Parts: sequence; C-alpha cells; structure tokens
Amino acid sequence: MKKIITIKKILSLLSKETKKFSPTLIETIIQKYGKNPFIILICCLLSLRSKDVVTIPISQNLLKKAKTPQQILKLSLSQIEKIIFKIGFYRNKAKVLHKVSKEILDRFNNKVPANIEQLLKLHGVGRKTANLVMGLAYNIPSICVDIHVHRISNRLGIIKTKTPEQTEIELKKIIPKKYWIIWNGLLVKWGQNICISIKPKCNQCAIEKLCNKVIKK
Ligand code: SF4
Repeated sequence: MKKIITIKKILSLLSKETKKFSPTLIETIIQKYGKNPFIILICCLLSLRSKDVVTIPISQNLLKKAKTPQQILKLSLSQIEKIIFKIGFYRNKAKVLHKVSKEILDRFNNKVPANIEQLLKLHGVGRKTANLVMGLAYNIPSICVDIHVHRISNRLGIIKTKTPEQTEIELKKIIPKKYWIIWNGLLVKWGQNICISIKPKCNQCAIEKLCNKVIKK
C-alpha cells in the first residue's frame, strides 16, 4: 500500500515537472503523425542505442520518404542507409527496417500486430519495442522498460532488479495497470534531464523526498 501511494505521488509530480522538457522521440512522432503503429514501430527500432536528439531529425527525414511497409521496401538498403547514416548501427538498422516491413506485409497482412507474442516474432523487435507499440499505438496496458525506466525505478528503491526483463515483471506487480503506459514517458524525460546516468541531479529533483537514492557508484 505504501508503495502505491509513493508511486502515485511520483507520477503526479513528474506529470507536472516534465512539462518543461522537450518531447521524447515518440511524443514528437505521435504529435506529427498520430498513433500510427508502423511509424511508432520503425521509429522505436531506429532509436535503439541512440539518443532522441539524434533520432528525432533522422526519423523525420526517413518519414518524408516512407511511412508504410510498401514505401520502405521501395527504398533500397543503400537509400535507407544514406538517410539514416548519422544514427548508430545504421547499416544494421536499415536491414531491420527492410525485414520488418517485409514480415508485416507477408505474415501480418500489412498490419502491425496488436499482440505482444506476435510483435516479438518480428525481426529485431524485443520486449522494449513491443511494449512501446502495445501501449502507445494500441493503448493496451504495457510497461516499456528502457535504460531510463530500469535505472530510475531501481534508484527510487521501489524495485530491486538486475535486468530490464525483471524490472518489467516487478513494476507490473506494484504499479496500478492504468499507469503502466505513462510510466515510461515520464521516466524517460526524467532520465534524460534530471536522473541522468552519471551524476544524477538530486539537488534539482522534484521527487527527491520519495527516492531512496540507490545509486550505483
Ligand atoms: S533523487 Fe536523485 S536518484 Fe532519486 S530520482 Fe531524483 S535524481 Fe534520481
């Protein structure tokens, strides 16, 4: 019970405090293109191991050329590479975009599945991407655990886990379902701006009093 009260207070404070920060990649994409599952999926795949500040303009450049699986497949791998080359692992990501587009066309009738097991069968799609698509594209309760969610949830002391997979399981036990989807967006912004990986800005943190500061040195 105490944990639920703490979580609700954290959510309420972060909802207010994060308004001043720039939108995340997926917020930017949804603002511009709506809740399009394919667009959310490919932007999430592009963002893996890359910062939002790099991924946002590159995603938008790619979306100017292609917004559907058919349009992605019309581009050659070298054309995609040319558009996304400033992003980390761009060669591999270009291949992933092609493979995923083909799978969606061939195996899923041109529709991104709204089902976690099927999403996980797509090339290059892990739980983080699958949960993001489930929550933000389809509004199906899911907790997307990326590095920020994993790090901050542990620093807060509401869970104690070693892997993102364990974090997802433990968070689902303590966060009421109606908050699962928003947990990611709020903690991503907090992780990008305040609870950063090295030297978190605890003296500027609105949730400091609720935090156990379990910070690994
Ligand atoms: S108090 Fe420090 S460790 Fe805790 S959430 Fe805030 S910045 Fe992160």
